[in-house]
Amino acid sequence: MPTYKAPVDDVMFLLSDVFHIDRYNNLPGFADATPDVVEAVLGEAAKFSEDVLAPLNRVGDKEGCRRHDDGSVTTPTGFKDAYRRLIEGGWMGASAPAEFGGQGLPIALTQSINEFISSANMAFGMYPGLTLGAAAAIFAHGSPEQKALYLPKLISGTWTGTMNLTEPQCGTDLGLVRTRAVPQPDGSYKITGTKIFISGGEHDLAENIVHLVLARIEGAPEGVKGISLFVVPKILPAKDGGVGTRNGVSCGSIEEKMGIHGNSTCVMNFDDATGWLVAEPNRGLQAMFVMMNEARLGVGVQGLALSEVAYQNAATYAKERLAGRALTGTKFKDKPADPIIVHPDVRRTLMAMRAFNEAARALVLWTALKSDVAHRSGDAKERQAADDHMGLLTPVIKGVLTDQGFANTVSAQQVFGGHGYIAEHGMEQFVRDARIAMIYEGANGIQALDLVGRKLPRDGGRALQAFFGEVSAYIKERAADASLAPFVKPLGQALGELQQATMWFMQNALGNPDNAGAGATDYMHLFGLVALGYMWCRIAEAANAKAAAGGNGAAERMAAKLATGRYFMDHMMPATATHLARIKAGAASMMALPAEAF
Ligand SMILES: Cc1cc2nc3c(=O)[nH]c(=O)nc-3n(C[C@H](O)[C@H](O)[C@H](O)COP(=O)(O)OP(=O)(O)OC[C@H]3O[C@@H](n4cnc5c(N)ncnc54)[C@H](O)[C@@H]3O)c2cc1C
Repeated sequence: MPTYKAPVDDVMFLLSDVFHIDRYNNLPGFADATPDVVEAVLGEAAKFSEDVLAPLNRVGDKEGCRRHDDGSVTTPTGFKDAYRRLIEGGWMGASAPAEFGGQGLPIALTQSINEFISSANMAFGMYPGLTLGAAAAIFAHGSPEQKALYLPKLISGTWTGTMNLTEPQCGTDLGLVRTRAVPQPDGSYKITGTKIFISGGEHDLAENIVHLVLARIEGAPEGVKGISLFVVPKILPAKDGGVGTRNGVSCGSIEEKMGIHGNSTCVMNFDDATGWLVAEPNRGLQAMFVMMNEARLGVGVQGLALSEVAYQNAATYAKERLAGRALTGTKFKDKPADPIIVHPDVRRTLMAMRAFNEAARALVLWTALKSDVAHRSGDAKERQAADDHMGLLTPVIKGVLTDQGFANTVSAQQVFGGHGYIAEHGMEQFVRDARIAMIYEGANGIQALDLVGRKLPRDGGRALQAFFGEVSAYIKERAADASLAPFVKPLGQALGELQQATMWFMQNALGNPDNAGAGATDYMHLFGLVALGYMWCRIAEAANAKAAAGGNGAAERMAAKLATGRYFMDHMMPATATHLARIKAGAASMMALPAEAF
């Protein structure tokens, strides 16, 4: 059975020492989040994840969800009780606005809680995760009545939420959506169509399920310009706000799938179901984007979360498993062989996971703090800058953290040798569970295209220029600091390569857009390395300061941080040159063969 220990200390270090969360005290909700409160909240979330959710991870994988003849779905043993405890603990609404029953704590805190929950049990975490996404879309685009009706239910977790985009003929290209919406005299709509792969579409955890559905109003224009967003509850709300009569929405079947068996993936049939328009007609995709952006960050966190739990188990195993002797001579004479952690190749794997996890966690928190600014600051300029950052970094976090997160689960499995391939140690479940994060919420190839095609040129490149400006200024200001040179120098080189890649697109992609498409994934990963490298510089700077200040075990912990960061700079950062070379190779050889040749 795998084990899990939530990285509370690391989150505290990042929030307090690297990002100085106290500097945000002018934002609503932050002054209440004193270090003691933050530590207590994280500590409780850690306990809940470690003691309640982690033991259910294997159960959920083995049992999966079951659909019954009446269309109802039963979640695995223990999920219902865990969900009850989740909502009783108030975890659902930790960062939600107080006016709708939330606690208004920083979003940064919720992202850490999400990480803990996903590490412990990703399939379970998707039920509350999607619910909060639905709440965010209604908060941003719902009418005052819709907000009053749905938000308190979703934020308390009494009802859960889903997002219904995908249909059999379309997932990426939502312009092909066929689900129809027919206006009714009372202002509601009758929704008819089939959605597939709907996470948490049906289950037994909550008394109602609020489906957010993309559909086409009769007579709407073709393509994405004719798509509207509707709220379609499983059970129609009664006049008093409770549950009334059953709506025309049902689960036709649930998918058998590679991983996340504890989460129900449903075919949802809408048969003249009553729904209400959210936002303006034909503006559904824009409204759904709010939900998708939240969800994309959440999916990036899933990549990190599985990488973290897989790493923890691989590190423990590498200290116990005996095989061979260290190349530099026996290290454990009392044992018949040395533990495999003495071997550089095993170290390579462990260090790569660890160096990724610590920087990825920083990147998530940095961006989550921007999300707090974007949602809560009273200063319009600050809000815009934070929003730009989120727009730019969301595809990077989604794409890079899930690609690398999956790769890390495979690396962790490798550390176990054959024991990683069999089910007993739980490592193969991490691999299977992590795989979906690269696909849903926009496959990672689409994230890369979003970054290169939309986010770079948006507003005349304002977000990108701000990012380049911040990183270059940081490098310049620390140029004379010898203690940071092993971090700042490689970052400077990598930033230069990212700037060259950007310039190459400007010169070569306008004439031939395939050049942008061909290099997009490399660009996303190059960008990811620069962003993670920047995080390592900031972590290293904070670690130097903390080690100098002394205190309980600080020197040792910070020395480990610095060594991990050095590994990142020495062994992982050089990949930027390969990405740049591949970008500059362009589309020619990629597109040379005619389709029939494949
Ligand atoms: C377990 C699971 C849970 C899911 N949960 C939900 C959910 O809750 N709600 C929901 O609505 N959907 C959900 N999905 C659906 C998921 O979001 C889609 O499967 C995903 O967006 C990809 O769409 P698709 O499967 O139709 O692939 P396609 O759109 O057919 O894409 C196939 C491949 O082609 C690539 N591709 C497509 N178009 C382009 C292009 N223009 N340029 C370059 N490459 C391109 C894609 O990157 C992809 O690799 C879920 C799926 C699964 C498996």
